[in-house]
Amino acid sequence: MEKINRSDDEWRKMLSSEQYRILREKGTEPPFTGEYYHTKENGVYLCAACGNELFSSDAKYDSGSGWPSFYKPLDSTHVESETDFRHGLTRTEVHCSRCGSHLGHVFSDGPEPTGLRYCINSVSMKFRSSGGKR
Ligand code: FE
Repeated sequence: MEKINRSDDEWRKMLSSEQYRILREKGTEPPFTGEYYHTKENGVYLCAACGNELFSSDAKYDSGSGWPSFYKPLDSTHVESETDFRHGLTRTEVHCSRCGSHLGHVFSDGPEPTGLRYCINSVSMKFRSSGGKR
C-alpha cells in the first residue's frame, strides 16, 4: 500500500481539532460517546484521515467497552500495530497503514474466530453505509 506522508501543519489544516488530537496525537475519545458506538448498519468504516478501508460492519460487535469494537480488520494489510507503553500500561496500538493515523488499540479478549478486540475511536473513522441493518 502506498503511504501518505503529511506534515503536522497539513494534518492540522485538514482535520478538526478533535480528529487531530486523536488521529495524530494518539488521543482517546471518552467512552460511550462516539458516533459509531451503537451503529449496526451494513457498511465499511474508513480512516477519517485518508479514506483507507479499515473495518467491515460484518466484524463489528458490542464489546460493552464504550468504543466501536471489531474482531478483525477488513484486510490485515490495512492496519498496523505497535507496542504502546504510555500511561503506565503495555498495550498494542493500532494505526492506519496508509497514513499512520492512530485508530485505537487491540486486545486479546475478543470473540471467536480471532479472539481479538480492535477497540477503535469513532473519531478516527468515517462510516460508508451500504444500506440495511445487520
Ligand atoms: Fe489513514
